[in-house]
Amino acid sequence: MTRIFSGIKPTGHLTLGNYLGALRQWVAADQRPDEALFCVVDLHALTVEHDPARVRRLSRQVATLFLASGLDPEKCTLFLQSHVDEHTRLSYVLECTATDGEMRRMIQYKEKSARAQASGEGVRLSLLTYPVLMAADILAYGTEEVPVGEDQRQHVELARDLAVRFNQRYGHTFTVPKVTLPKVAARVMDLQDPTSKMGKSGGAGPGVVFMLDEPAVIRKKVMRAVTDSGDGGVVYDREARPGVANLLDVLGACTGGDPAALAERYSGYGALKRDVADAVVELLRPVQERHAELAADPAAVEKVLREGAGRARELARPVVDRAYRAIGLLEP
Ligand code: ATP
Ligand code: MG
Repeated sequence: MTRIFSGIKPTGHLTLGNYLGALRQWVAADQRPDEALFCVVDLHALTVEHDPARVRRLSRQVATLFLASGLDPEKCTLFLQSHVDEHTRLSYVLECTATDGEMRRMIQYKEKSARAQASGEGVRLSLLTYPVLMAADILAYGTEEVPVGEDQRQHVELARDLAVRFNQRYGHTFTVPKVTLPKVAARVMDLQDPTSKMGKSGGAGPGVVFMLDEPAVIRKKVMRAVTDSGDGGVVYDREARPGVANLLDVLGACTGGDPAALAERYSGYGALKRDVADAVVELLRPVQERHAELAADPAAVEKVLREGAGRARELARPVVDRAYRAIGLLEP
């Protein structure tokens, strides 16, 4: 039985990228007899400018979408990061294992700190230390596999490095996790700017498809997607033709087809876009329907999260206690 952990930040409405890169992989893992934990990583949402009421609202919405996507609380543990103190307890010890230089090399830190600076806000210290807290999220559970999108690969590698380093210095304490990426659509790109990742925190951009967008809105966004100039027809080439490759990736992820093989079926962009729009609408329809039902009963979602936090604490406490003893802290 493999131990799996992953999370999503409540920084915005979830996107098609979050669904294809993360949630859908999780649901597939949930079908196997694994011990899986999925977390609304709310503490991470405080690393950039935030509105408290919005974070609360989005935390509930993300948890509801976990369930609506098909995660079964009977089979996996669903919870909020801030409900389990072990994450921050472990994070401190890992901060004493990581270096400043390592943190500053993180691509996400470079991107998000530049954005914060450009908008005149200061860069929160927690943005720099974020990957350490993420390593704690993962390592606290003896996690073996971390299913995420491609953009999180570097952070999972850091968690591996910290686990190995801690184990070498202080004795075997942590399981060394490995990243698992979806085969297709591990990095869904913005439909208007296919050289940037589709992200939920950039606002309601016309190139971002949200999981709860109405079908008509999804169709409009897909039909207006930027395609590439050139007369090569529909070919799959991520470097030279990023816009078309992105549409083919999304179609492949929705239909189970191979993006390069799918390209051969199309002679024009219009037909391709219509098929992508249909596929995305059909993929999200059952999730949206289930979300509407679940959103009507927030108490039931809260109960799932409370029970999940109890289970998560039980799993994390012995691991974090072990790390405290190993690094030199006396038992209370
Ligand atoms: P933010 O803009 O706040 O960073 P995000 O959309 O990048 O939001 P995260 O909460 O950072 O979402 O990531 C949640 C999960 O979704 C991670 O596993 C991440 O790899 C995955 N993910 C995010 N965006 C994409 C994308 N465009 N394609 C594939 N996977 C993605
Ligand atoms: Mg992100």
